[in-house]
Amino acid sequence: MALIAEHIIEQVREANDVVDVISDYVQLKRSGRNFFGRCPFHNEKTPSFSVSPDKQIYHCFGCGAGGNVINFIMEHERLDFLSSVKLLADRANIHIETDPAEPRKKDDRASIYNMHEIACRVFDRQLNDASAKTAKDYLLNRGISEETLKTFRVGFAPDRWDTVTLEVMKLGLSQDVLTRSGLLMVKNGGGYYDRFRDRIMFPIMDINGKVQAFGGRIFGEAEGAKYMNSPETPIYHKGRTLYGLNLCRDEIRTSRTAILVEGYMDLIRLYQEGFQNVVAGTGTAFTPEQAGLIKRFADKVLVCYDGDGAGQKAAQKAGLTLLDKGLDVRIIQIPNGEDPDSFFDEKDTKAFQKLIDSALDFMTFVLRNNQAQMDSPVKRTAFLENMVSELALMQNEILRGMLAGQLADEMHVPEEAVMSLLKRQTKRVRRPDYVPDAPAPQAKAKPDILRRPESGAEKAEFELLRLHLSQDESLLSWLTSTISDKDIKAFHYVEIFQMLHGRLRKELPINHSRMLDEIQSSEIRRFITRLINEARPDLESITHAHQCIKTVRWWAIQREMDQLKQLMRDTDARGEDSSEYFRRKVELQLEQREIKPNPISM
Ligand SMILES: [Zn+2]
Repeated sequence: MALIAEHIIEQVREANDVVDVISDYVQLKRSGRNFFGRCPFHNEKTPSFSVSPDKQIYHCFGCGAGGNVINFIMEHERLDFLSSVKLLADRANIHIETDPAEPRKKDDRASIYNMHEIACRVFDRQLNDASAKTAKDYLLNRGISEETLKTFRVGFAPDRWDTVTLEVMKLGLSQDVLTRSGLLMVKNGGGYYDRFRDRIMFPIMDINGKVQAFGGRIFGEAEGAKYMNSPETPIYHKGRTLYGLNLCRDEIRTSRTAILVEGYMDLIRLYQEGFQNVVAGTGTAFTPEQAGLIKRFADKVLVCYDGDGAGQKAAQKAGLTLLDKGLDVRIIQIPNGEDPDSFFDEKDTKAFQKLIDSALDFMTFVLRNNQAQMDSPVKRTAFLENMVSELALMQNEILRGMLAGQLADEMHVPEEAVMSLLKRQTKRVRRPDYVPDAPAPQAKAKPDILRRPESGAEKAEFELLRLHLSQDESLLSWLTSTISDKDIKAFHYVEIFQMLHGRLRKELPINHSRMLDEIQSSEIRRFITRLINEARPDLESITHAHQCIKTVRWWAIQREMDQLKQLMRDTDARGEDSSEYFRRKVELQLEQREIKPNPISM
């Protein structure tokens, strides 16, 4: 197993804020000092998953999952420690020496990413070349500023066969990688040529801003498909990427709202006009994966597609997909014949804000948009059946029913009729691809050692454990010098105590994040995360610690006395001498009277 130096791991941890990383997977909302969301490790309706930016840990009050940012990746991506560190290093652009024995696949991906970055720079240079004047003028005339072009790294692929090919050939990559990169086409007689020619190039970036694909658009008088997109490659999966998310995710996360548009130009234009919570699909029909991606950052989506028939039809489909993921959906209606990009040619941001404010809820939009199909009973029935069969495709049963109810209501059709139609249609739909959002791990009985403290003694121990995780050095040195091995032996949480106490003797205070990396047992890691998470700085005092120790000792004596009483009863019953036990009991009673614990405040 290859090892990564401790200081590199530290660097990786520092570069990956726990809130930032988890936000890529879970929709988080700030509440006080912490962030909350629905736990990705168990199924739940109300959020009990918390992330602490101060402590850089996460903890679920529901299932007990917990740890630091590396543990999160380990559990969520089901990777081992090293692979998780590497993934996070990659995310933060930290270079880690890779083990030569590691599968070549990863290197291939890195090479393909590198090829895309090079191509992006080539296209960028070309756009600013005199020979690209028509392309550049086209963009400027469409109202896109120089600055916006830079922000989105828009470029130009000239009408030649080898612009990119010549550059990437210098890298000396294998034929296999060159072929699979999606940037080059294989010549019949061998060799390569550029896939993209005479097109305005929009780099498609992943969530961290790494170029992973391109969309090439024709302009002016040119003929052919308006857009040509990269094919699927080892680093690009169309249905799982959203254009613009790298630039817009913070704004989306803050406003909890995303505007979904169809085209790259639409997105760029809206962004330039100050609407910076936008995302666009990438050349395919909008997918459930893309909806899931939006859901990590937003609660609400404003669908803003072209004003023509095709655009409105696509908006209806996307709307259903988004609703099915549990997102609140509104449809923005762009005047017919326009798209979000051209809208701003004559109108301003205020006019667009008006469109946002008057966006329709999904069913109202659907009914209004299909008015033409409502003018005869036959057409109305056909429309209704059609719509119900679309609803039947939804995974979310409750929502499916509610939308059907709304449909019946607004069309003045008896609800039972629509519902029974829905029931029949739903049965017909098979759902082979259905994967629940968060597979619930089998509920395991909690090991006895990790249960909540019940008795007064356990509560006191729990407090002492928690105090071991404090950052207060004087308190910590007091704990190391006061708690003895004899105390620990009597503890309920022996194993955890030994670990924390031993560690404290070596390092003071304990580095929580580093410690969590080293705990093998996920149960104990969870338990400790809970301790860290439930810290009570107001109780971090020597007086409180002293009180806890007294309680623990008082109960230890109590337990010994109970045993003695039993022994004395047994010896008396046998007619033997129990005076030795009696003497010890008196001793303990005196000792216990000395302690006099007060109730533990918690
Ligand atoms: Zn949970």
